[in-house]
Amino acid sequence: MATTAIIYTEKYLAHNPGRDHPESPQRLMVIMQELKANGFFEKGFCSLVKPEKGTIEDLKLVHEEDYIKLVESYCRAGGGVLDLGDTVVSKESFNVAQCAVAGSLKAVNLVSKGLFHNSFALVRPPGHHAGAYYARGFCIFNNIAIAATHLLKRHGFKRVLILDIDAHHGNGTQELFYHSANVLYVGLHQDPTGFPGTGFIDEVGEGEGVGYTVNIPFPFRINNAIYLEAFDQIILPIVEQYKPQFILVSTGFDMHYTDPVASLGLTIHGYAEIFERILNVASKLCDGKVSAILEGGYSLIVLGKIASAVIAKMSQAPLIFEDEQAPKPPEQVAKRAETIIQEVKRTQSRFWNLK
Ligand SMILES: [Zn+2]
Repeated sequence: MATTAIIYTEKYLAHNPGRDHPESPQRLMVIMQELKANGFFEKGFCSLVKPEKGTIEDLKLVHEEDYIKLVESYCRAGGGVLDLGDTVVSKESFNVAQCAVAGSLKAVNLVSKGLFHNSFALVRPPGHHAGAYYARGFCIFNNIAIAATHLLKRHGFKRVLILDIDAHHGNGTQELFYHSANVLYVGLHQDPTGFPGTGFIDEVGEGEGVGYTVNIPFPFRINNAIYLEAFDQIILPIVEQYKPQFILVSTGFDMHYTDPVASLGLTIHGYAEIFERILNVASKLCDGKVSAILEGGYSLIVLGKIASAVIAKMSQAPLIFEDEQAPKPPEQVAKRAETIIQEVKRTQSRFWNLK
């Protein structure tokens, strides 16, 4: 049996936000091409699994009915700009977005039933900026939030970790679980002042959810070393204390230094190291149960390579990938990052034991 399920269908290519839009069907095409070229399926490390048809009931796990109907009728009428900015839909987009949700649910079902060790849902459109009643930042339905709610309500899980490693803060996901202790939302992202305007250190959850939201807003241009330092000093100790029963990873590939939309400075090796840590902590705490769900990432020249590096870690495939020389962050960036890491530690020490 293959270790890792890759959930994908060509249907995901049918959502078309327009010719020059960065969230293009080519993103998934280059990823699939590279996975095939590296022999993940042929050599039995991964199995390709298609999603089932999604249902409206799945969408209703986090979205309001009026919003679902609005998206559906808007797409049926031919599409256009769904929010005030950059979430553009075409005629097919409602069906594709529903199918992205179905793919995310398939990913967690296969792992929770023990059919695969872990899984990666290669879906589009992405989801983590979408809220209960709004589309935003290329996202229509919140795939990962629906997957988490599905695990809580339909599989009886009590503690689910959502680790959001997209370069942008997952405002929609954070908002949906802001009052809940059943989901620990952890977001590491670039300075969110310009977009999406949330994801600052003092956003820690409310009510029963106090202490179950963790934000690390990095300055632009940080590198692997700074990111991993924050991961080791803050994220891993908190996750070990939370003891999640399932780990969901909002996986954006836009932290890479070549990304045309975001402004961080990580490399392919950085991604591999992040996943090594996630998989290690998962095998220690929750029997290795990890499902990754694709969010952003727009640098077509490296998307396939990052996905391969990550999936090689997940499936334990021996894959050698080239080292890259990322630009070094300026000294003031490293200093600022250090200050932020200390501030997050101070803030989160109210809830967790952090050295
Ligand atoms: Zn992003």
